[in-house]
Amino acid sequence: MARRVLITGITGQDGVYLAEQLLSEGYQVFGVVRGQRSVCDPNRRPLRPEIKLLSGDLLDQSSLIAAVETAQPDEVYNLGALSFVPVSWRQSNTAAQITGVGVLRILEAVRVVAGVTASVTPGANCPRFYQASSSEMFGKVRRTPQNEQTVFHPRSPYGVAKVFGHYMVQNYRESYGMFAVSGILFNHESPLRGPQFVTRRVSLAAAAIKLGLHDELRLGNLDAQRDWGFAGDYVRGMVQMLAQDRPEDFVLGTGVTNSVRELVDLAFRHVGLDWRDYVRADPGLLRPAEVDSLCADSSRARQKLGWKPEVSFEELVAMMVDADLRLLSDDREM
Ligand code: GDP
Repeated sequence: MARRVLITGITGQDGVYLAEQLLSEGYQVFGVVRGQRSVCDPNRRPLRPEIKLLSGDLLDQSSLIAAVETAQPDEVYNLGALSFVPVSWRQSNTAAQITGVGVLRILEAVRVVAGVTASVTPGANCPRFYQASSSEMFGKVRRTPQNEQTVFHPRSPYGVAKVFGHYMVQNYRESYGMFAVSGILFNHESPLRGPQFVTRRVSLAAAAIKLGLHDELRLGNLDAQRDWGFAGDYVRGMVQMLAQDRPEDFVLGTGVTNSVRELVDLAFRHVGLDWRDYVRADPGLLRPAEVDSLCADSSRARQKLGWKPEVSFEELVAMMVDADLRLLSDDREM
């Protein structure tokens, strides 16, 4: 019988890549969606028809219980969140409810449906659980690079909510003996990244300016530094975490840090342009508190999972700009 997986956040970048990988491994994939009329990926393309969509919401406990009951999953991946950091200041309660308490609700749904209590340890029918934790939890970093032992100091309501979810997973593992793990993933990008994130803003703008569709790009903090990798590499790591003998949290990142300025320079040079002719500073895009610099130490994942990123930052930027050149050229012809 095919193994069954339930994924929240199935319409986001990671959900799409993860579903793709698990379908190719023969899984029956169920995705939780909030009842949208058209269910599409971040580039507005329909999801793979093999994915069975169940209606549910991380804000609603009973809908999650029903989704777990219907899917009867062997594995659950909680990738759903309000994932764009600036929105988390404007909608801090919603961010806390979806990104933070949402983790508790989906964990609780898994626990209740599997009939696990503090005195009834999980049987083989209790799904394994993956939580999308985030490098934003490190925030104002206490040391560089960051690994599984580094102290958290979140700098946004999004980061605070992720810390809540992270500790809740740890607590369910310790309280109920569930196979529940968190992957602390550093920024990971792709041609499916939402257009509001900085890498995609830059790749779309470089492509649009090259094609003569736009003539400037407004950006916030050019000095911010991130450890950016390719999302396809990271979903591979998620699957490896759930295939371990023991539940353990892992940091995934490249260990290479670049600034937004370096990102812009690479992307514009890829299309033969000088970014300084097109990029304007927009103070409106600065954040109330910033995560200045992130750099992963994923030596534990490299040793225990045998995980390593395959795509370099330069290859990632080129891949994203090329994909956006194709996307915008197609749009123009339609
Ligand atoms: P995050 O790390 O999850 O917040 O991912 P983002 O891609 O949204 O932001 C990465 C970094 O780029 C942050 O430090 C932002 O302050 C910085 N940045 C600079 N300009 C922009 C911009 O125009 N949009 C976004 N999203 N980020 C920007």
